[in-house]
Amino acid sequence: MTMHLFDTYTRTIRNFEPLQGSEVGLYTCGPTVYDYAHIGNLRTYIFEDLLRRTLEFNGYSVKHVMNVTDVGHLVSDADTGEDKMEKGSRRMGKSAWEIADFYTQAFIGDLKRLNIKEPVIWCKATEHIPEQIALIRCIEEKGYTYRTSDGIYFDTSKLPDYGYLGRLDIDGLQAGTRIDMGEKLHLTDFALWKFSPPDQQRQMEWGSPWGKGFPGWHIECSAMSEKYLGPYFDIHCGGEDHITVHHPNEIAQAQACFGTRLANFWMHGYFLQLDDARMAKSSGDFLRLQVLVDRGYDPLAYRFFDLSAIYRVKLNFSWEGLDSAAKSLDRLRLMVYSWGEPGNIDENFAIQFKEQINDDLNFPKALAVTWELARSSLPDGVKKATILMFDQVLGLKLGEWQPIEEIIPAGIQELAANRQQMRREKRWSEADSIRQKMSDAGYEIEDTPQGPKIKSRKLPAIT
Ligand code: AMP
Ligand code: ZN
Repeated sequence: MTMHLFDTYTRTIRNFEPLQGSEVGLYTCGPTVYDYAHIGNLRTYIFEDLLRRTLEFNGYSVKHVMNVTDVGHLVSDADTGEDKMEKGSRRMGKSAWEIADFYTQAFIGDLKRLNIKEPVIWCKATEHIPEQIALIRCIEEKGYTYRTSDGIYFDTSKLPDYGYLGRLDIDGLQAGTRIDMGEKLHLTDFALWKFSPPDQQRQMEWGSPWGKGFPGWHIECSAMSEKYLGPYFDIHCGGEDHITVHHPNEIAQAQACFGTRLANFWMHGYFLQLDDARMAKSSGDFLRLQVLVDRGYDPLAYRFFDLSAIYRVKLNFSWEGLDSAAKSLDRLRLMVYSWGEPGNIDENFAIQFKEQINDDLNFPKALAVTWELARSSLPDGVKKATILMFDQVLGLKLGEWQPIEEIIPAGIQELAANRQQMRREKRWSEADSIRQKMSDAGYEIEDTPQGPKIKSRKLPAIT
């Protein structure tokens, strides 16, 4: 059973086969660490985690690389304005390096809480400056660059199919714009290297063949993905906003130097929206995972919420939606807990589940299969084993959950003590009638070598 994935480059669903053997090279654009991630960003990382787990479920090993953008991402995606890191540094009164460290750790904490597997390789832009300079040199030698007073730019007019990934109408864009292009020759040209402003000391700057400065935002991904995965690897992912600027630029850099389109598959997660508006990290008031936790939600309820929509449609966040996801997750966990020890896997359900996840990650349907299994009349042990296998991909920690310790009401404890007394006095029929009374109230008593144990027949409520 092969995997079918939607490739934004060709705009088609394609059969997935690794380029080489059974190892899949996966590069996912990581966070810009000048602030916390919001739950929209996290939707993209959950989508990528589901992709990785589905690949692993299919028997592939995944070499997953994620970058950390800790320099070069300017306030406007169009190479103007302040560096986001330096701006964050001013806001918090800490150095840009401290800011990067702090928010990288916060990001890793969010991944853990959502049970998102950490990449095999993390790479920071600031730790790969020589690689980025080497790639810019290569692009320069092939004749794709020009110099302005503030940096070295990529001349996108030199690539006949520049912007193909985003199906950009270059002439239309150029004609319709009123944006001040500065010294850029074409609207879509972008910075490879920016010079430090002459009147200002930047915290993050490096020497280069062109002068002191820092790399543009796009070059880090082409340079680091090539370093760890080679010039043409299996899958490259990001959020849908990358379809029109960041990823066409990564591809342009790769075409110029390596002669490839960098990745065989380009995949994009669609946005989470709040009240139908895009949730922007730069807008200041955004929802962090911690806000959900503060309101009493398990972070995995948010993961469950995301599983209910396919990754290729926008998803509206609402508290009602999160609430119903939290309840469904609790219900499922309670069922799994009540099934006891796992037995054999049901192959029929296993095939149905795999069909859905292999169909371009159709998790809403995979969840429907999961519920169908949970409500089926199969033996409990079979249900348990099968659902725990699904959970390798769903990542909901269904098997780890335990109810909190039961609190036995005082009245029931008193009855149990009376029964013990009757037994000691060998008043068996009275002891039995107390046991019956307890049973009618929903409590069973089990006589163990350590003494009687009281258990509720109902499972306690989940807190
Ligand atoms: P950033 O930290 O801004 O570079 O973004 C990190 C990732 O989150 C990128 O892959 C973005 O495409 C993605 N992203 C940004 N906003 C949203 C959103 N509202 N919903 C889903 N993904 C998003
Ligand atoms: Zn990137």
